[in-house]
Amino acid sequence: MKILAINTGSSSIKYQLFDMADETVLATGMAERLDSDAGTLSHTAMAADGTRDTIEIREKHLDHARGLVRIAALLTDETRGVIRDTSDIAAVGHRVVHGGEAFQYPRIIDQSVINDIEKNTPLAPLHNRANLTGIRVADSVFPTATQVAVFDTAFHQTLPRQAYMYALPHDLYDTHRIRRYGFHGTSHACVAGKAADFLNIPLEQLNLITLHLGNGASATAIRNGRSVDTSMGLTPLEGLVMGTRSGDMDPAVPFFLSRHLNLSLDEIDAIFNRQSGLKGLCGENDMRTVLTKAAAGDDHARLALDVYTYRVKKYIGAYTAVLGRVDALVFTGGIGENASDVRERCCRGLAGLGIVIDPVRNKDQKTLPRRISPRNTSVKVLVVTTDEELEIARQTRKKILE
Ligand code: ADP
Repeated sequence: MKILAINTGSSSIKYQLFDMADETVLATGMAERLDSDAGTLSHTAMAADGTRDTIEIREKHLDHARGLVRIAALLTDETRGVIRDTSDIAAVGHRVVHGGEAFQYPRIIDQSVINDIEKNTPLAPLHNRANLTGIRVADSVFPTATQVAVFDTAFHQTLPRQAYMYALPHDLYDTHRIRRYGFHGTSHACVAGKAADFLNIPLEQLNLITLHLGNGASATAIRNGRSVDTSMGLTPLEGLVMGTRSGDMDPAVPFFLSRHLNLSLDEIDAIFNRQSGLKGLCGENDMRTVLTKAAAGDDHARLALDVYTYRVKKYIGAYTAVLGRVDALVFTGGIGENASDVRERCCRGLAGLGIVIDPVRNKDQKTLPRRISPRNTSVKVLVVTTDEELEIARQTRKKILE
């Protein structure tokens, strides 16, 4: 069975085509800068012998619809194609960012699902609108495939009330559903499953703290395989320090910026979402650059690293308290998988909680998943690769076989 996983952003489409018989990737790619005059499409077909055939296309006025038509043409191309016809694709799995309270599980897309995604659009205007565009366009380009929506928020729909409610007037929840939702759900679910496989313990018996540290970053407390708390909130702004997002701060900061600096809500939104986090603290949002500058003695870069890792450490402590017993702490995402220095700083001084990192295992970049804690510590510290597209494809297959 062939499944296409699609992640549609406001100006991009990322995709992977899987053969679910053995979960191999047949093709992967990304269309970027859509709706600009510099649209690009990079497409790689994978041959059975492991060789890759990459093609780069530049096209003015490439939009989502034209981009997906191009992708379909490349997938079915006579010489470099990996399938004969678009009808070979059984299903298209779409990442949908905000499912609100309506979706605890993936759903086969019909008009009522589209209506519910639209209802949640005010909670994530840019993301959900883009996801709906992807669904509409895929429906016309792959008319025989079943369309399935996989929600970033769904994994966190198991949060108990005390974890998802803000201490605001109840009416704001009753009328407007203002609460913590959490995001990166497919990633947290994916690495929780991989950690269970690695430890050879059923997920339903495991308590985990999963740390997705990429450009966006979030922490999740998982009890018996289910999410019970997570650091992102109504939107992905809350929680950990991120590449350009502030994460937690005093909710009164916007009042100050509005009253004393006369900034508009849009300007404040842009500061918190696009000019804060690592970028705000030291001018760089890419962790590799931050680490290089910090090593060279740049004081702002050092501060950014300190604030970033201190925040992660606080969440590890908080979620240890939430869970009582932690079986494993799981690092993932571009930073979590690659930055041994960041992992070491996040866990420094946590021996009292049973969290210790073996410096040699931590530096070993070769094998993933792997354990980086010494033998016989109560909390196993793991590094696991996240694969959101594969998780979307797996959930899509499960849904259409139900
Ligand atoms: P996204 O959230 O966009 O999927 P990624 O998960 O790819 O992002 O994470 C991107 C982050 O990972 C960037 O801050 C990048 O600097 C960081 N990163 C990638 N490789 C390394 C590395 N070898 N060392 C440190 N940081 C890394």
